[in-house]
This record gives sequence, C-alpha cells and structure tokens, in this order.
Amino acid sequence: MAAKILLVEDEKALSRIVRYNLEKEGHKVVLAEDGEAGLALARREKPDLVILDIMLPKLDGLQVCKALRSSSSVPILFLTAKKSEVDRVLGLKLGADDYVTKPFSVAELAARVEALLRRAAPAVAPAAPRRAGELEVDVERHEVSVKGKPVAVTPREFTFLKLLLEADGRVLTRDVILETVWGIDRSVEIDTRTVDQHIARLRRKLGAEGSRIVTVINSGYKLKKG
Ligand code: CA
Repeated sequence: MAAKILLVEDEKALSRIVRYNLEKEGHKVVLAEDGEAGLALARREKPDLVILDIMLPKLDGLQVCKALRSSSSVPILFLTAKKSEVDRVLGLKLGADDYVTKPFSVAELAARVEALLRRAAPAVAPAAPRRAGELEVDVERHEVSVKGKPVAVTPREFTFLKLLLEADGRVLTRDVILETVWGIDRSVEIDTRTVDQHIARLRRKLGAEGSRIVTVINSGYKLKKG
C-alpha cells in the first residue's frame, strides 16, 4: 500500500538509506532534518505515517510527537539509539505507535512500516449505495430513494430491498424472504401470501421503479436491472 511517509532524521547517511528503501516499496518520502521542520512538514503534508528520530536539532523527537499528537492521530514510528530512549518513549505515553532501535535492518523497518500502515487503514471501505436505475438503497444511512427523492419504507421493506439488490438479478424465494426479512420465527400468522401483499405495497411506494421488483411465478422475486 503506497503511502506518504514523513521521515524526520538528522543523520544524512541513515535518512538516505531509509528513504531509498521506502521509495523502493512504492512510498513517497518527505524528509526533514530537524524537529521544527518535521513538525511543520507534518502539518503541511499530512503524511500517512511519521518516522521520527529522537535526538534531533531544535525540537527533539519526543517534543515533536507531543505537539503532533495534540492535533493528529497519524501513526508514529520512533527511531531510537539507546535503550534509555525506548524507556522514555514508552514511559511518557506520548502516543508513539512503535519504535525500532538503531542499528536496525532495513527489512525490519519496512516490516514495521507496513504493519503500522495496515493497522491505520480503515477496516472496511464504506458501503457504496446499491442502485438499479433510479432506485437507490443506502445501506449505511438506511435510506431508500427514487430519483434522489427519499421513500419512506418500513424496516422489513428496507431489508427486502437490500437483499433484492444484493441478489443482483438472482431469484429470492419466498421462503428465503420469510426467513431473512421476517425472521425464522414463523409462529406469527405469516405465509407466502403475506409476502406478496407486502411487496405489492412496496411496489406502489416505489412508483415507476416499483416494476423493478419482478414476480417469478411459483418461486419468488428478482430484481430487474438496467
Ligand atoms: Ca539523531
């Protein structure tokens, strides 16, 4: 996953190697050589990850981290030269996400970087609204609309429409509809004719788009796409 990474490191030989290897992985690297410049760049460039040395001119890495954390949850990976620095990083609870101690292997750093980026990435992309023609079902907002105008539907109607669009043209049998829309508890007086009545009402609500709900004789319903 290609990311923009801010590297704050004053040892030129080290930053060159780190930069080279991150770029080889496809990342974009912005470099700062002191803490002040690092903080300014972090605010301007909004990187996906910050690699922060601790011993830095002007502001040290801990101060940069603290300032950054007041306004950002960007993942921060510390580069530390001494065991005592590790203790300080952890002890201060500055919100560092990980650290590597110098000297480190390029492979180790790359692995930490990838792990942090993976962890920071949103677990699931927001579900795109499902649509057919002018009919749209927004699963995130629990809304149904036709030609952009909201249609008031009951929770069961919403669930049915969602299923229908997800089935993407395949037939939903009345049994499946009963089980998933009404729940498996059939102690209530619900039979397949009830499903038909509900769907007839839903079709009317959807107006011109109601005809997308196609009855499949002796089977169930499917969505007319296109
Ligand atoms: Ca340093």
